[in-house]
Amino acid sequence: MTFDFRGKTAVVTGGAMGIGEATARKLAAAGASVALLDINERAGAATAAEIAAGGSACRFFACDVSSSSAVESAIKAAIGHFGGVDVLVSNAGIQDYGDVVTTSEEAWDHLMSVNLKGCFLVAKHTVPSMLSRGGGSIVVVGSVQSMAAIGNSVAYVAAKHALLGLVRAMALDYARKGIRVNCVCPGAIDTPMLRWAANLDSNPDGVIDACSRAHAIGRLGKPEEVADAIAYLASPAASFITGAALLVDGGMLVPAGGMSLQEGGTGAAVR
Ligand code: NDP
Repeated sequence: MTFDFRGKTAVVTGGAMGIGEATARKLAAAGASVALLDINERAGAATAAEIAAGGSACRFFACDVSSSSAVESAIKAAIGHFGGVDVLVSNAGIQDYGDVVTTSEEAWDHLMSVNLKGCFLVAKHTVPSMLSRGGGSIVVVGSVQSMAAIGNSVAYVAAKHALLGLVRAMALDYARKGIRVNCVCPGAIDTPMLRWAANLDSNPDGVIDACSRAHAIGRLGKPEEVADAIAYLASPAASFITGAALLVDGGMLVPAGGMSLQEGGTGAAVR
């Protein structure tokens, strides 16, 4: 898929690796100037330098999205450097596991502050620039867990569900002011986060295999496939789409009862 973002500036949070990196590369290749924000300074600076070496305008700004002052100063620096913001990709997120008993209050607060408050903060500090430029587009990276739950993930599931509410609320607030706000909801995507999660298990390959089979398409998603959906929603091609949640999940949420029923010979199964 090709897009034209020439003359536009995009802020991508969590852009050092994974889905954020693929998105930063895609937007830059389509002509956008990219402000890459990440807490991981080494990886963020390296990714931004690689993108810039390819001839695109890309600069790294160290930022912990859960910190109000860090977000304010990183966005201020990005606007100072590039002149404004047209596209925000709120992607930075962390994963954690636990039920309500085993999740500590500190772990809950930390995940919420990165995955949910982080999105609120980056939107808070980029929307004024978008408004002053006559509009813009925000794409938030949710998850299939914005719509459905997996076990032992209370904080992550709650934060991803809440992000969808934040997307819809912002979409309404800015619909008549030229800013569209949408959410992509990926299935299991092959990124450092997924590999980290798989490595928590004694059989990481088994986890990857199970994740692959959980999608109707039968494999993991690629970061670039999510980046395509993000670029589409951010682009004028999606000019009548706001407040939407776009599943990029290889059909993970399609089968009633999950893919195991399809695999298990229920009569309706396709083997
Ligand atoms: P990765 O962990 O591979 O990359 C995320 C990047 O965000 C890392 O560079 C990470 O830095 C950075 N980051 C973490 N915390 C912060 C913070 N507080 N402030 C700024 N940057 C931060 O993740 P993915 O690419 O897999 O995930 C990106 C988004 O997609 C997340 O919101 C995730 O929940 C969502 N998602 C991912 C799926 C998947 O299967 N991979 C599925 C559905 C949704 P560091 O390395 O230091 O932690």
